[in-house]
Amino acid sequence: MVSEKRSLEELRHVGPTLAKKIRRWIKNAKRPGRPPELRRDFLTLAGSRRFLQKHNDWRKRLRGDLQMHTTWSDGSGTIREMAEAAIARGHEYIAITDHSKGLSIANGLSEGRLAQQRKEIDRVNRELKSSGTRFTVLRSTEMNLDPTGRGDMAPSALQSLDIVLGSFHSALRRTQDQTERYLAALRNPHIQILGHPRGRIYNYRLGLRADWKKVFREAARLDKAVESDAYPDRQDLNVSLLKLAAKAGTRISFGTDAHHPWQLEFIDLALAAALKAKVAGERVVNFMSADDLRGWVKTLRGRG
Ligand SMILES: [Zn+2]
Repeated sequence: MVSEKRSLEELRHVGPTLAKKIRRWIKNAKRPGRPPELRRDFLTLAGSRRFLQKHNDWRKRLRGDLQMHTTWSDGSGTIREMAEAAIARGHEYIAITDHSKGLSIANGLSEGRLAQQRKEIDRVNRELKSSGTRFTVLRSTEMNLDPTGRGDMAPSALQSLDIVLGSFHSALRRTQDQTERYLAALRNPHIQILGHPRGRIYNYRLGLRADWKKVFREAARLDKAVESDAYPDRQDLNVSLLKLAAKAGTRISFGTDAHHPWQLEFIDLALAAALKAKVAGERVVNFMSADDLRGWVKTLRGRG
């Protein structure tokens, strides 16, 4: 607005005093230098959208979102509200990935509550079907993994789900190489997607180190997916690691990690990051139909 010589008072809540202050800030602002490591390689939502506008064909291939939380754990939308927000965005499916019991701080679900949740998901699916909406709510969980790659839920409870995401939420500030923990997590027969792999958070936590080539190659060999978590302060995997994953031919899963219905819009960050990293569309799990997704999970489970 300043460069267009427009009045800053066009902005809401900006009067003459504040307008003058903002002009002074902008005039005196220095060009930002290279940001500290904790803030590097993050995309902006506006930048991602500008980039995607030129690649509408890529955006159109998206069929669903594979990580989100509801009021069952630490989210603030109901399953129905998340489904409606996804339908409004044109998705064909979503996976409900509430936390598992080991993450009690996030009100993680026990096997019993997960079974209870099934009733609600089945009801929402029935209601949507009877109203003529072609949309599927997939049953999932973001299972908490300990640093040895083991999960905290009974295998029988996991088998009843459509898909299982596994994530680390502890010992995320270790500075030694963590390759072994990733290999162990990928080899865990009960998970198909490794959630927010590095565990980085903008301006707060750098994330774990590993021999990523090795990790992605192992994921590709096992035909499992690594997640591109689109939550703005995570963006994990980031573009540079997605490039390595693309080279290894690893499957990539997009998840907004939404904790509120409006946050489904974060998906643009994952779409843009994968495209910038030249991930092949055939490797994006979310470009598959819900049926093909289930087929993939079934094949993986068959291997045990
Ligand atoms: Zn998580």
